[in-house]
Amino acid sequence: MDMFAIFPGASKPMSVMEWLDHSSFDELAEIDLPRNRCRNLYHVEGKYFVPLLDCSLQEIYRFAQENMVHPDDRTAYAEIMDPESMERRLSEASPTPGFVSAEIRHKLLDGSWRWTELLLASAETPGIVRAYIFDIQNQKDRLEGRVTSYQGKVEYDELTGLLREKDFFAKAREALAEYPDGWCLIVIDIENFKLFNDWYGREAGDVLLAKVGTLLRAAERDSGGVAGYLGQDDFCLAAPYDADRVEHLYRELQPLSAKSGETSSVGFLPALGIALAEQGLPILDLFDRAAFAVRKIKGDFHTRVLIYQPSMLEKTEEEYRILSDFQSGLKRGEVYFCLQPQCRVSSGRIVGAESLARWRRADGTNTPPDTFVPVLEKYGFVTDLDQFIWEGVCKWLRKWIDAEHTPIPISVNVSQVDIFTIDVPRYLESLTEKYRLPKSCLKIEITESAYVSDVAAVKEAVQRLRDMGFLALMDDFGSGYSSLNMLRRLNVDIIKLDAQFLRFDDTDSEKGIHILETILNMTQTMALPVIVEGVETAQQVSFLADLGCRYIQGYHFYKPMDVSDFERVISDENNIDTDGFAFKPNQQFHIREFLDQNIYTDSMLNNILGAAAFYEWDGAENVDIVRFNEQFYRLVNEPNFKDRIQGIQDFFHPNDRKEFFELLKKAEADRLNGASGMFGVYREDGSLGRFFMRLYYLEQTERGKVFYGSLQEMTKVTELQNQMKLLSRFSSESIVFLRRRKGNWLSQIVVHGLRDAIGLSQEAFQKELDEGDFYRRFDDTSREIFYAMLEAAEEDELNFGFPARILNANGKFEKIYVKIDFVHDEYSEVERILMFRKREEEDMSAPRL
Ligand code: C2E
Ligand code: CA
Ligand code: CA
Repeated sequence: MDMFAIFPGASKPMSVMEWLDHSSFDELAEIDLPRNRCRNLYHVEGKYFVPLLDCSLQEIYRFAQENMVHPDDRTAYAEIMDPESMERRLSEASPTPGFVSAEIRHKLLDGSWRWTELLLASAETPGIVRAYIFDIQNQKDRLEGRVTSYQGKVEYDELTGLLREKDFFAKAREALAEYPDGWCLIVIDIENFKLFNDWYGREAGDVLLAKVGTLLRAAERDSGGVAGYLGQDDFCLAAPYDADRVEHLYRELQPLSAKSGETSSVGFLPALGIALAEQGLPILDLFDRAAFAVRKIKGDFHTRVLIYQPSMLEKTEEEYRILSDFQSGLKRGEVYFCLQPQCRVSSGRIVGAESLARWRRADGTNTPPDTFVPVLEKYGFVTDLDQFIWEGVCKWLRKWIDAEHTPIPISVNVSQVDIFTIDVPRYLESLTEKYRLPKSCLKIEITESAYVSDVAAVKEAVQRLRDMGFLALMDDFGSGYSSLNMLRRLNVDIIKLDAQFLRFDDTDSEKGIHILETILNMTQTMALPVIVEGVETAQQVSFLADLGCRYIQGYHFYKPMDVSDFERVISDENNIDTDGFAFKPNQQFHIREFLDQNIYTDSMLNNILGAAAFYEWDGAENVDIVRFNEQFYRLVNEPNFKDRIQGIQDFFHPNDRKEFFELLKKAEADRLNGASGMFGVYREDGSLGRFFMRLYYLEQTERGKVFYGSLQEMTKVTELQNQMKLLSRFSSESIVFLRRRKGNWLSQIVVHGLRDAIGLSQEAFQKELDEGDFYRRFDDTSREIFYAMLEAAEEDELNFGFPARILNANGKFEKIYVKIDFVHDEYSEVERILMFRKREEEDMSAPRL
């Protein structure tokens, strides 16, 4: 869709800020025109008056006009929602066919009105229309703020003691009009504030807001600026820009959320977005920029303060452009796949092929997948592409088999995002059923990921795929930073290795060879076939053959080719090898076996271990780094690295310093398991980085105690979690994370898709979980099984599922399926993930352990 044009009424293309505001909708309904139904798919709890959740189209149309929309907006509503003409209006819509929208006041539960944007969008399936409702009240207010000017009579917010939105903007505008040079606007946001309220209660949340208010009043006084409270957890300060003051402000804000809660507070850090004033730039545009900077750093615990730069916006707009072009490109048939053969080294014959997406635009230009795939992944749209390619591949295989040719197994790419958005194994299985294909025709390539937190889900998907009979490949092995660990946890059939290791320039080539050699050694010990990818020269081929590598995919043999060319090549039986990939089921292995055989080169070990260093603690107040590896050096990446490896405790955030020493003590006490923690460390430029550190005690020397420590940056882990949250809105499961604290389980609902079946709102559900009442809803047998499973030995690291019966809010027994996953997530301390879903036939088997 064209993201810049779908909201009429905007005279210029929407700013990204406005778009982002829009991108989080309050309601989503599916309209089925042929069946004349309207079904609510998602709605925010307790906001709008929405009594009809599944009804006929006429019913909701009439009812809403009378009862849900503002009397003055009825005409606007009728113009967009009239069932009679909806289809025609959508197809004729301008500027973007398939999208129409209107601004409508919707009634809230308390009877008041709120400005919303009602957007209709045609879905892929003919006759299906999605209706979204976005809350635009804040934008409306901001727009009104544009016209009201500061009258001298202002209203202060009671809680924070700061100016409210309108007055803030009016006053800040005046200040900036007088002397814009060197001024800036700072937008302050508390990360996950809603969660803070949920966890610690509203009162604690209010206390936090009041404290921020106090700090900002002081900053206002000191700087001669203007501060304001924009509602929720959003604060603003317009003041002369001063880097020291900003840093000071951040350091004062940072501990506020930490002190309010008993746990470590990484998730509640403040984020500061700054926009520098420019002559003639309206205050609201300045605000958009600062708010945009804040959005950019949300969920990234490495950067907490960011100054807006125009290039940031360009990047995002470019990404949106790709998204919207791609969607229409997919519809218009611009997207297709090509195939790249995979060959046996010894004979050069084809044993398989990989499907690779291609996008040739109508104007003939090609956009490479490296450009669009990451963008699709980032915004959660890659699944559209992948499903399209998978189906195309299956269709082609069917056609090929029907023409009485020998089928060649084809690899399809599965993005990790797919695993969160759809049930990949089930989907692929349904495709093989639809096209009557043996499972051995498809190989599934999943990229090794750097996101430690999703391993459990990926692992489950891989396991199920293999159980179904698909071959699972780990793509790009060695590109992430915990390869070995990943290999152990994801039980794959084949490994793909990129020959980038061979493309080092001369000085590095030895290192690359070492890495390759070691990986091949290791995989051979594990009886795992390896495909080396990106092999370009005969020299590389013979080298790899010497190392014992048997399969190669690369330009040396074949480039990716159109399907018709591929058909021509494999029509000649001499070119193909139907023995396929030799593989034996692999087994879990013990790292010691490998270490004893001494097959690791140093560079290999370093690559697997990631950033690591040796620390020396004098037993009192000083810690020095005495050795570090290349990866550590690169991660820390400080200009004056040398000056920063002594007395490293000084670079820790004051709040974390004590904890760091505690960690050293803990590691010393528990030699076997070591100790780990998360720390804020100041970089040389003053910004605060977040690192996850794991320490092991090694020995006592005359100078002090020596520790080994690995280091990981915390960037992006939560970004993905946030995206998952958005994506999982459509889930029909309820998912609960369990953490163990002092012997008790703490529950956190991540998704509540079972709301209707159980008849509990998320709040009520949470309350029952907190108070332990929820499990009383189980019938006796189910409850017994549940507790037994929950407390089962962790070493087994098993996942359990069983059919259960629970009493719903109406006092009736509801059949559900309960799953308990055992996870180890160093970052979030989550130990179990519970999933409840409505029972389907296949879940009916007896409980199994
Ligand atoms: P990938 O899965 O690692 O695919 C292998 C890439 O290496 C392909 O790039 C292929 O053309 C390239 N390659 C193969 N042999 C050689 C060689 O000898 N030398 C060099 N320099 N390159 C070689 P391509 O087609 O540009 O795809 C890039 C990436 O885009 C893929 O990496 C994959 O991550 C992603 N991608 C492509 N198609 C799809 C798709 O259908 N779905 C998903 N989720 N991702 C896709
Ligand atoms: Ca691949
Ligand atoms: Ca690859």
